[in-house]
Amino acid sequence: MRRLTREFRLTGRGLHGGEEGAVRVRPAEPGAGLLVGRGGTFESLRPTLATPGTVRCTELRLAGGTVRTVEHLLAAVAGCGIRDARLEFEGPEAPILDGSALPWAERLLAASEPVVPEPGPPRAGSPVRRLRVGVSRYEAVPTARTALMVEYAVPHPWLGRRRVAWGGDADSFAREIAPARTFARLEELEGIFASGQARGGSLECAVVLGPDGPLGGPLRFPDEPARHKLLDLLGDLALCGFLPAMRVRAVQPHHAANGRLALRLAGNDAGDGTGQSAQ
Ligand SMILES: [Zn+2]
Repeated sequence: MRRLTREFRLTGRGLHGGEEGAVRVRPAEPGAGLLVGRGGTFESLRPTLATPGTVRCTELRLAGGTVRTVEHLLAAVAGCGIRDARLEFEGPEAPILDGSALPWAERLLAASEPVVPEPGPPRAGSPVRRLRVGVSRYEAVPTARTALMVEYAVPHPWLGRRRVAWGGDADSFAREIAPARTFARLEELEGIFASGQARGGSLECAVVLGPDGPLGGPLRFPDEPARHKLLDLLGDLALCGFLPAMRVRAVQPHHAANGRLALRLAGNDAGDGTGQSAQ
């Protein structure tokens, strides 16, 4: 666990809207949790702030306006073990930076120091024995510390199905998970651009997976897409406002389904009546 000791601000273009934006990250008093705001009004981060059903990013509906693509920042905050922070968004989208959580993690680690965790049982939330949303499947069981396991398949023979895991500590997050960049398959790009997404996209902030290999340079890890899916899952779990002390296993996770998992973990998913969710 770490505590922020000073503030910082990062600016950059948003992936989907392509506009310049910024986030100011400031310490919050111990026990305050994660506070998010835009336009000067702050509220506690919770899963119901996320717009249900978003694809390719996670969006928060804040009193001062919506903000999208918040998941890499949230993953870095949770992955670095920071429980109390004030995150102020300037503009409608968080900067995409290099498409990973590494720039956030580096700044968060430099602006924080390790602290002894508070005594008492870890906050776990509600267990989820089984959750299925479309192709995504999850289970979450309480444990002493957070551990994530992700299985993710990309339908290219050179990549295939990969399994990655993270044991909950900040060092391994910064080294093994945070550097994994967002990605899209080459054949998806036309549809993505046609839907008005990824207007700020480029090979500087995303990996494009071609049928024979990555475009624009090598992957940072042979299983980089699966690692990025774990990063996204971690960011979406942080929507709970705390990182649940759970062993979470996810197969083929995506943002909309992760959001449903966060609602269940926080104990406030009433279901959407589609019958896609079962426990
Ligand atoms: Zn992502």
